[in-house]
Amino acid sequence: MTGPGDGEAATAYPVIRKTEEEIARANLTDYARARREFSWTAARRALSGLPEGRGLNIAHEAVDRHADSPRGGHVALRCVGRDDSVTEMTYADLRAASNRFANVLRGMGVGKGERVFTLLGRVPDLYVAVLGTLKNLSVLCPLFSAFGPEPVRERLRLGGGRVLVTTPELYTRKVAAIRDSLPGLTHVLVSGDGPPPPGTLPLRRLMAGAPAEFEIPATDPGDMALLHFTSGTTGTPKGAVHVHEAVVAHHATAVQALDLRPSDVFWCTADPGWVTGMSYGVVAPLTLGATLVTDAGEFDARRWCRVLQDQRVTVWYTAPTALRMLMRHGDALPREYDLSRLRFVASVGEPLNAEVVVWGSRALGLPIHDNWWQTETGAIMIGNLAAMDVKPGSMGRPLPGVEAAVLERGADGRARVAGGAVRVIEEPDVEGELALRPGWPSMFRAYVGDPDRYRQAFAGDWYLSGDVVRRDRDGYFWFVGRSDDVIKSAGHLVGPFEVESVLMEHPAVAEAGVIGKPDPVAGELVKAFVTLNTGFEPTERLRLELIAFGRRRLGAVAPREVVFDQNLPHTRSGKVMRRLLKARELGLPEGDLSTLEPRPGAAP
Ligand code: ATP
Ligand code: MG
Repeated sequence: MTGPGDGEAATAYPVIRKTEEEIARANLTDYARARREFSWTAARRALSGLPEGRGLNIAHEAVDRHADSPRGGHVALRCVGRDDSVTEMTYADLRAASNRFANVLRGMGVGKGERVFTLLGRVPDLYVAVLGTLKNLSVLCPLFSAFGPEPVRERLRLGGGRVLVTTPELYTRKVAAIRDSLPGLTHVLVSGDGPPPPGTLPLRRLMAGAPAEFEIPATDPGDMALLHFTSGTTGTPKGAVHVHEAVVAHHATAVQALDLRPSDVFWCTADPGWVTGMSYGVVAPLTLGATLVTDAGEFDARRWCRVLQDQRVTVWYTAPTALRMLMRHGDALPREYDLSRLRFVASVGEPLNAEVVVWGSRALGLPIHDNWWQTETGAIMIGNLAAMDVKPGSMGRPLPGVEAAVLERGADGRARVAGGAVRVIEEPDVEGELALRPGWPSMFRAYVGDPDRYRQAFAGDWYLSGDVVRRDRDGYFWFVGRSDDVIKSAGHLVGPFEVESVLMEHPAVAEAGVIGKPDPVAGELVKAFVTLNTGFEPTERLRLELIAFGRRRLGAVAPREVVFDQNLPHTRSGKVMRRLLKARELGLPEGDLSTLEPRPGAAP
């Protein structure tokens, strides 16, 4: 686990082999062949492009080309409300509504490249606004609706927001007081039927008065389409710029990595304020002509099972914290529901512990397929595909069209750059920085307002991910940690994820966050913050038992300190915020907390 020759994972679960039948059923049946034969140019041909060769527009691929086909009457969007109400829109409905929205923007003089922000939950207006904005060649920037006024202001300022689409309530609570400090924000559109708050415009009325026809202007593949802020796990969130041709990657990766097809009912639990909630929670399933399910309800294991059952979900894309929470409820819970339609489950955003993958096979009858990507990459880059054996705890292998490498790291922990050169590690099982060869369509094109940071993300011919991984003999990638999170203890490099995974194998442990704590002798010692499962008491005896358990399993790199913490800090996208655990431990400033998920019961 710590370097050359020491490649055995501490967590050794048997490989989950796919049957011949499973392989034959998959979209992509032969990984090696697909890697040889794939080209992004060919992937582009699976899309239609705008009529008369006018280019490639995300909203056209997602909506209009289906609306114009016999699929026009197929349900594109099924929004489950908090109160379990269901609102459906067909592809034809979605085309008309997004056309009206595009016309509203045009009517206000909002044009190409101008920034439209959304601050909305998972309601139909959100999807309409996203698609209408893209049709108008304006740039869409989704905000997480639970952001407070400060993060909203910061992002509107950085992104140069001209239009904001929100609800009257969110406007009054979060935007009204900061409006004066945002002179560039010329229009705020609010949903709902009531009178709009002062200074805002009624979206519904404007749309009702706008034509339902809209011709998408010629769209260059390199035209800016989306602005996405990162999760802020390692510091201040960065604004990553994406372009229209990204849709080629959204579509192709959904087919390959999520095994998605037009007949599917697809549910992506990610908030639309994050890149996952946009690339796969809006765009990809629509480009396939599938039915997209969204749920505005609470983060709750029972509710998820109910949505999966009632909406007859066939493909589910979610995150490790959700799966861990589900697992915590025991194997019996999913069995209370009819989940027989579900055929593929995937996870992203954080390392997926091997135990969760195995739990999936047992409790859902389906292994969980981990995959890896970032806000910057715009689409899935590495994954466990439907026809591929799953190695529990591994992120899988690079998708067709994706070239990934492990680069040697220098003293500062990042890939070593000598005169712009880097060294690619060819040997298996050696840790280094995960790098990708640029050239896929959904690659980000800039960090807004930070060209230096963008430049620093590249070395030689590579984009540097900032994540530390190792690749095994079979080409599977294993996540070790973020460059910043990797712990150096008594000459060992310790990946927090592996330690966390081992702790989670103890029946008492629901979740763990592991950091390096400065130590005069070891350099850093491994410290674990542990959330207990219901039914376990945080006793001294249990604490010592966990330390001993860790030592048995991990040897020298086991946590020396274990503390109980029922409220591990998470980002709103569901990641354990290790940098905050560390800052608190060291009594250092807590840094940018705009994306910190509030504790249950805390003021919003
Ligand atoms: P910031 O860049 O602001 O610190 P962030 O990196 O968490 O935030 P995202 O782009 O949302 O923002 O997340 C991408 C990161 O999430 C990856 O770089 C990686 O560290 C982690 N990640 C995503 N998927 C996986 C996975 N399957 N296994 C392990 N880590 C993952
Ligand atoms: Mg990042």
